[in-house]
Amino acid sequence: MTLPPARRPGLDPATIGGLSAHQDTRTPVWVDGGWHAQARIVASPNFGARPPGMAIDLVVVHSISLPPGAYGGDAIDRLFTNRLDPADHPSFAEVAGLRVSAHFLIRRDGELVQFVDVEQRAWHAGRSTWRGRSGCNDFSVGIELEGLPGDVFELAQYRCLAVLLADLAERWPIAEVTGHEHVAPGRKDDPGPAFDWPHLASLVAPTRLALTPAVQHSA
Ligand SMILES: [Zn+2]
Repeated sequence: MTLPPARRPGLDPATIGGLSAHQDTRTPVWVDGGWHAQARIVASPNFGARPPGMAIDLVVVHSISLPPGAYGGDAIDRLFTNRLDPADHPSFAEVAGLRVSAHFLIRRDGELVQFVDVEQRAWHAGRSTWRGRSGCNDFSVGIELEGLPGDVFELAQYRCLAVLLADLAERWPIAEVTGHEHVAPGRKDDPGPAFDWPHLASLVAPTRLALTPAVQHSA
């Protein structure tokens, strides 16, 4: 499933590309707190409460694939719901016991999956620091793109991500979008060098979201 862009006046549907238009502008995007109405929901038990009064002002972009480099299948859903069988693949053994999650996953075809209510604290960033603040899980939204550091991402993923970012920014005071590799340098390398920050910047340009690494426009 892909997300419709037409409802948001700040986001040009032509820029986003061939997504179906949202027919009913009264349809809420966010339901039951922080669940996206158009996501496939796979509720994860791996979350906790955010600190009281903590503003949600950062998005951390990740990439994940299980097994690494293999796309499709349900292993990511299983990982985030503690149902990954370490016997299914040699690479699963080291991650099967982890208690991790992200708020969202964007599959290669642009499908949006949600595991944790945005109002809650998902377990995606681990030890991390952003602009002097540690513990990014407290104040961030974690979005996984199905992929592998170094591998290119699909246009459908950028389109879905751009619409999701606009939806998030409309509801919460999201000020900045960055990568896991930037909040945990030296420890994490996702989404990686093939993630096209300038392309994402072009898609979210009508919003006021800042992207880091900052995209330098030479013109
Ligand atoms: Zn990550």
